[in-house]
Formats: sequence, structure tokens, C-alpha cells
Amino acid sequence: NERLASVDPEVANAVDAELHRQQNTLEMIASENFAPQSVLEAQGSVLTNKYAEGYPGKRYYGGCEHVDVVERLAIDRVKQLFGASYANVQPHSGAQANSAAMFALLKPGDTILGLDLANGGHLTHGMRLNFSGKLYNVVPYRVREDDHLVDMDEVARLARENKPQVIIAGWSAYPRQLDFKRFREIADEVGAYLMVDMAHFAGLVAAGLHPNPVPHAHVVTTTTHKTLGGPRAGVILSSDEELGKKFNSAVFPGQQGGPLEHVIAGKAVAFKLAAGEEFADRQRRTLEGARIIADRLQAEDARAAGVQIVSGGTDVHLVLVDLRDSELDGQQAEDRMHEIGITVNRNAVPNDPRPPMVTSGLRIGTSALATRGFAAEDFTEIAEIIATALHSDFDESVSKKLRNRVEALAAKHPLYPNL
Ligand code: PLP
Repeated sequence: NERLASVDPEVANAVDAELHRQQNTLEMIASENFAPQSVLEAQGSVLTNKYAEGYPGKRYYGGCEHVDVVERLAIDRVKQLFGASYANVQPHSGAQANSAAMFALLKPGDTILGLDLANGGHLTHGMRLNFSGKLYNVVPYRVREDDHLVDMDEVARLARENKPQVIIAGWSAYPRQLDFKRFREIADEVGAYLMVDMAHFAGLVAAGLHPNPVPHAHVVTTTTHKTLGGPRAGVILSSDEELGKKFNSAVFPGQQGGPLEHVIAGKAVAFKLAAGEEFADRQRRTLEGARIIADRLQAEDARAAGVQIVSGGTDVHLVLVDLRDSELDGQQAEDRMHEIGITVNRNAVPNDPRPPMVTSGLRIGTSALATRGFAAEDFTEIAEIIATALHSDFDESVSKKLRNRVEALAAKHPLYPNL
């Protein structure tokens, strides 16, 4: 018997335990989702065995006729989905998509302008220990203190003063939409490339519920596993085919060897699903859920407990909770959620006085629960549970009651019933 459970029970048990954890708790990490069974199947296929350095029709290995079909499907579908004329589906992750895009457009020592990590940006947008911070001269832009929005006049001023070669628009923790048109005008004015990293909101774009950056940017990068709900991986898109040649060569041979064709198969399936009505309905419920949570956490009792919402609401799939005035720090709030069966991550809020390992905020996302089937009434219940958990009179008996309510919601929306 060659099944995992017989060959390696230790790994098999950990995988089973993780399935059990996903089924019985509520996943509200904003960057996570549940890949459908069809995607898991593609990803767990024999395509993992195949070397296919190069691109469809131009490979450095024999026997690529079937993986060529798969990779072409993925490319065609993602181009169609986002209205791009160029796509590279080989980046192993979002970080690798970003590093390849920057590798194509920049030389070491060039200047990039990106959203500061502590203000919602991503590591790859210029954090000091990341490749982006080590290779390039980083000029960060921040959000405004009063309304927590990116200040486009400030972006324009920094661009004029520092003449970056690349301006990055995109975020990991920002509850609003960015003005891509304005970003492009600023980039054009200073002769920079505009790179949009839509990793977080790509699913909303695919469903037509968020402005599409592709017509505005020189290059758009994304992950495929957040709102898009596919396998863990990255993609590069552009509407400039000449730049596309540079991105292809930056991915392979610039940064990667053999592509993960099994993951690319998973991406192809995810892109097919993302073009459907069921997917659009999921994204609508995702947005509705985030709004319900933001509203509930701004009710009087939550405010009295010191809870605030960064930017006063949300236009996307996540809510940033500001706990600076609460008795809880980010770590304590994350632990409290964990105790009642809700998985979230602590997150810095703008001007956070606490260190990154503690923080004063929570990032709460609704994508994974929408995939599980949550609708408005379920999000209303979860919002009530979260609001109660953040109250100061939280104790063991409250905790137990909330845990029961979480379990009831999980049971109402079974996850992976056939696994
Ligand atoms: N870009 C953004 C905006 C992200 O939020 C993330 C991940 O959190 C990434 C890129 C990196 O993706 P990955 O973890 O697949 O490298």
C-alpha cells in the first residue's frame, strides 16, 4: 500500500489534523481562502513530475506536449479574465512575481516608491530585510493620519522629489481602493513604470466588483490564492507585449528553473471558475460580509470598549480593527479569537505604538467564509460574536458560549465534505 497514511503516518496525521482544523474553526485571515477540490486534484497530480523549463512551444525538455496544453489554458484564461494581452503564469508565489517584475524593470540601486509595510504595504514593496529593500533604493509613502487613506498629493510630491523608476500601488492591509488612474498620471509625469500588486483584491476585480488595474498599469502582479481562491502561486499580467518579453525572461531564466506545472494546472482551473456566476456571487457575499463586520464593530458598545475601524469602514474583503484605545493589544485580541475558534491575524495599524510582533490591531477577512457559503445572516452572527469577544467583560463562560456559536456556524457550512 503506497498511500500516504501507510507510508508516512506522521505527515498523514498532521494533514488530517489540519483538515479538521479548517473544517471546525472559522478562517478569517484576509489572505487565505479554500481552494476547491478540483484545484486540489490538479495540484496533487502527476504534473508535479514534469520538467518544463521554457514556455509553451519553446521548452528545453522533451515530453512537454500535455503540460503545454495546461499552461496555454492558464495563460489564455487569465488574460481573458483580466483583459490583459500578456500573462506569465509561472511565478511560484506572489513574492516571486514581484521580484521578477522588478528584476525586469529595475537595476540594483534604482529607486522604488511603495506603500510602507507598517501602513499596509507588503514586504516585497521595499521592506528593509526583503530583496526589494536590499536591492533598491526605497522611498515609502504612507496613509494620512486623519482618514487613513493614501494621500495622492503626497505620492506625487515624493515621486517628483525622488524620481523613482517604479511606483508600486498595492497593499496587504488597506481597507479601501486605490486610484490607479492617478497613480499612472504620476508615473507618467516622472517617467516611472507603474506596477500594481493586486494580490489581495484580484478576486474582486475578476468579479467586476473592484476597478481593474490592468488598463492603467505597465505591469500587474497577483497571487492566485487570496480572494481569487486558487492554488498558492503568482501571476504577472500586462497590456504591453514588448514589456511581456522582459517579464518572461526575468521569470525564466532570470529567477526560476522549472515551472510547477501541477500548480499551473490548479491556476487554470481557478481561472475557469473565476469567470463564472457562482464565483461572482461569492465575491459579492465577501464584500457584504466585510461591510457587516465593519458596521457592527462601530456600534456604540464596541466603541465604548475602545474598538475603532481603520478608515471608518471598508470597500474590500477586509476590515482593519484599531485597538489602540482598547484594553487589548493585537496579540491578546488574536489569542482571544483563537480561543473561540476564529482565526485572524494581529496587524499593525497606522502609527502603531506597539512593535510588529504585538501590534494594536486585527485584520479580519471574509473571503474564506464566503467560499464556505456564508451569507449576510451568517456574517451578522459572526460580527456579533467578534464584537462580544472584544468586550471587556469577556470571561470563561462568555468564551464557551461564543465557541459554541462558532461551532454551530461551522457545522451549518460544511467544508470539504468529500475529503
Ligand atoms: N503581494 C501582496 C500584496 C501580498 O499581500 C502578498 C502576500 O501576502 C504577496 C504579494 C506575496 O505572496 P506570497 O506569499 O505568495 O509570496
